[in-house]
Amino acid sequence: MKSDLFLGGQWISSTEKMNVLNPFDETVIATISLAGEEHIERAIALAGKAKKAYASLSTGDISAILMQITRELEARIEEFANLIVLESGKPYRYARGEVQRGIETFRVAAEECKRIPGEILALDWTEPGRGKKGRVEYKSAGIIAGISPFNFPLNLVAHKIAPAIATGSPILLKPSSSTPLTALLLADVIARTNLPEGALSVLPCSRVTGQKLVEDPRINVLSFTGSPDVGWKMKAQAGKKKVVLELGGNAAAIVHKDADIAATVQKLIVGGYAYSGQVCIHTQRIFIHKDKYAEFRELYCQEVEKLRAGDPSDKDTRYGVMIDEKNAIRVEDWLKEAEEYGAKIICGGERKGALILPAVVENAAKGMKIWDEEVFGPVVCLDYYSTLDEVIDKVNDSRFGLQASVFSTDHEVLETCYARLEVGGMIVNESTTFRVDQMPYGGVKDSGFGREGVKYAMMDYLEPKLMVF
Ligand code: NAD
Repeated sequence: MKSDLFLGGQWISSTEKMNVLNPFDETVIATISLAGEEHIERAIALAGKAKKAYASLSTGDISAILMQITRELEARIEEFANLIVLESGKPYRYARGEVQRGIETFRVAAEECKRIPGEILALDWTEPGRGKKGRVEYKSAGIIAGISPFNFPLNLVAHKIAPAIATGSPILLKPSSSTPLTALLLADVIARTNLPEGALSVLPCSRVTGQKLVEDPRINVLSFTGSPDVGWKMKAQAGKKKVVLELGGNAAAIVHKDADIAATVQKLIVGGYAYSGQVCIHTQRIFIHKDKYAEFRELYCQEVEKLRAGDPSDKDTRYGVMIDEKNAIRVEDWLKEAEEYGAKIICGGERKGALILPAVVENAAKGMKIWDEEVFGPVVCLDYYSTLDEVIDKVNDSRFGLQASVFSTDHEVLETCYARLEVGGMIVNESTTFRVDQMPYGGVKDSGFGREGVKYAMMDYLEPKLMVF
């Protein structure tokens, strides 16, 4: 297990230390080094050198490095999955799925780096451009700072690092303080490639130290994934940097009257309770057509009752603890508040330590946190509707807009929803949590600013450069 800082290619021990806990049993898994301002300073200087070193690498060289990372991750899939279980409490089945996605993220980057666009423009549309052409190539925007949250310790880190390598952009990554070990293990994989010295630093640090990544003017792009309050504040502090924000959600699913209820329930159980709802596109609100509401409600609650909490390292466990007790207490308080205002918990909701039993709520409404805010926990609210107009307005009546699902095979219903839902992505007949790593991913309103998904993140890490000739 790696516990030192990965500073531009070297493993460095620091004097400031932090314990990493296993959320399942609260034992200390590792004591890691924390970066101070001086380490960030050195990483920025090394990143400056790496910018020049990247110029000597061909597209083929970069693609080969990304493929080498892919192969090494494949060879170490169990090691990564077990570490994710250990530091995040994520059930093994989901942790392994995450590693598989991390592998795909690097594989996609190995392809996309070959497709960085360029064009020749006719400039003679107007008289001053007579006899002139424009050549446009996309070049690295410079040094990237990546800041990632706890809930996907590998894949969300991969979504910062893979596009950075693909565009020849040095990157300083600050992983979540709850789950830094997987990011350090990924650094161990990348250290075995021919990536230029300084092209990657993985620097666990306090939020105070991490603030330097937000404010330092030598960093050109800030790519942040985390909570909305933190992200929007960073954008205001980031100066002249390009900023990409991947923030929270409050995802809704519409279950129309023609939906296959049994199949939909199975998908939305995963959407609601995978990793105890600690997923930014977790299905928080389900709107069911009134004709199917009773059938859906009964089946959904039956399936929720089957979700037995267990040891996340057990291969059969589908449900487990939250990241810490503090977050479980927050969710418990939000449920109590909703009950006081008239909501009804029809299933689950009890708390024991960091565990909250999967909760299903009816009669939740505006003014309750479980309805208005991002619950980021195992709570799903059920509601019903009569008309498509009504349900689209309900889904849109939220400050978030990341992804939404629509369960229907009616072309007109799908087209109307696609035209009118205020979200970054609409998913048809799959859970709101559906994501593959080449698709554009991100939100509107408070959910974010810009898109990830390798190709789309790459465009944010690039600048068009013009030559007129
Ligand atoms: P968080 O906002 O508390 O922390 C995210 C990261 O930012 C952590 O590494 C944290 O240490 C760091 N950070 C916080 N303040 C900082 C500062 N001042 N300077 C530098 N770094 C700072 O989020 P979290 O609790 O780890 O994750 C949960 C949130 O992430 C949820 O809101 C969830 O929706 C969101 N999320 C979004 C996506 C997406 O792609 N849209 C994906 C996963 C999680």
